[in-house]
Amino acid sequence: MTIAGVTYSPHSGWVDPPTEVEPPLAGEFTCDVAVVGGGLAGMAAALRLAERGADVVLVESGYCGWGASSRNAGQLTGAPAGDPQLLSTLHPRRFRGLVRFAESAVGFTEKLIGQLETDCEYEPTGNVGAAVSRGQLRKARRNASILRKAGADAEFADGRDLGLPDAFLGGILERVGGILNPGKFARGVREAVLRSGSRVFERTAVRAVRPTDAGVVVEVPGGRVRAERVVLATNAHSRELAIAPKRLAKPIWVSMAETGPIEPDRLAALGWTSRSGIVTQHNLMQSYRLTGRGTIAFGVRRLQLGSGALGAREPDPAVVADLACGFYDRFPSLRDVALERAWGGWIALTPSWLPVAGEATRNIFYAIGCNGHGLAQAPYLGTLLADRLAGEDLHEDLGAVWRTRPRFVSSPLITAPVLRAGWAVDRMADRLGWGS
Ligand SMILES: Cc1cc2nc3c(=O)[nH]c(=O)nc-3n(C[C@H](O)[C@H](O)[C@H](O)COP(=O)(O)OP(=O)(O)OC[C@H]3O[C@@H](n4cnc5c(N)ncnc54)[C@H](O)[C@@H]3O)c2cc1C
Repeated sequence: MTIAGVTYSPHSGWVDPPTEVEPPLAGEFTCDVAVVGGGLAGMAAALRLAERGADVVLVESGYCGWGASSRNAGQLTGAPAGDPQLLSTLHPRRFRGLVRFAESAVGFTEKLIGQLETDCEYEPTGNVGAAVSRGQLRKARRNASILRKAGADAEFADGRDLGLPDAFLGGILERVGGILNPGKFARGVREAVLRSGSRVFERTAVRAVRPTDAGVVVEVPGGRVRAERVVLATNAHSRELAIAPKRLAKPIWVSMAETGPIEPDRLAALGWTSRSGIVTQHNLMQSYRLTGRGTIAFGVRRLQLGSGALGAREPDPAVVADLACGFYDRFPSLRDVALERAWGGWIALTPSWLPVAGEATRNIFYAIGCNGHGLAQAPYLGTLLADRLAGEDLHEDLGAVWRTRPRFVSSPLITAPVLRAGWAVDRMADRLGWGS
């Protein structure tokens, strides 16, 4: 089913692609550090390394910010990705550190936003892990308590106290963070990198990264870079590079949609006075947020596993139609409001649900896989890794996600049938009024 009038974009729905991109790499270059991948992780690593006086080359296959970094829902969240109960059970000793990492990432990113010369429409509204059923309320109450015990600035609150539309009965209020326009944010970081003195090559897909006796060689179609060290910040695309740790993450396609502009009095009538970003407590969450252009953007519900090479892609109309069903269920007074655009992007889903960083092999480092929570975490991780490369001790937040050995075991839960089943259980729970 295709919804009439929707523009399905292969790019971010938040901004147009840049009118001018940097030329591809041609010839041979040398540098201290080569960064592969110009998302928030790679760009932040390049920025910090350049600030610290390193000679940096950044190589990006599209343009900096082309990937998830400009396409996400723009919810700057201080919560770790994944269900807190599951995470605290699977990683009991690391959980507190993960919570601290996730909240510190928000503080770091807010500071970065302040330094950029771009208005990315940041609103420090906090975000809510919201419940749409009594079962989800119980889940939210339990997870709020787990997060609080681990030191998070989060608490359970009733719907009336959260300033949310009626469909949301209550939930976990994360006080840190808020909502922003991720396209403008990624654009601002790109401009800062271009000003930083780093040499940036766009439209250049790295084919191979090889350790040598003298350092590392990065091979691209038109030439190569000889670097002392390399940072892989290739997110969902990592498995396309043989040097990246095997089974580190699986690529998952996440879809987003946005309404057309809604009249201010109708938006006001929703009672969304806090303007907080919302994610539901389903197995596969639904996210909803207000935007600076008087619309509502929303996403997820269905996740699609990637196979083969991951190129530019438009969202699947059936998935967008399903997102629309969820939106109209939660916002019945807006049933006549048409959707205007849809897009999507690739995330890297790690088997542990944790972001990961480490040394893949001598002189080749990686900062990959912030799952669905990298808007704050990816730039923080890239920056912490850059500090480490500049000779600093392992920061305790980097330590929380650092892997001493690049060994990963595939998760039996991240498969297409399991993802479909997660969606089906959520829909059944919605129909019966249970929580998932
Ligand atoms: C639809 C969607 C909604 C999301 N919503 C949120 C949200 O609300 N809040 C939140 O915190 N997070 C959210 N996320 C997750 C967040 O966007 C990501 O975790 C984060 O942007 C990851 O940043 P990154 O730099 O690691 O990866 P990316 O932004 O994906 O960057 C990786 C870059 O590497 C480049 N690359 C890959 N391979 C090569 C190669 N061989 N050679 C050269 N370049 C290469 C790619 O072109 C890409 O630009 C969402 C993600 C999506 C897709």
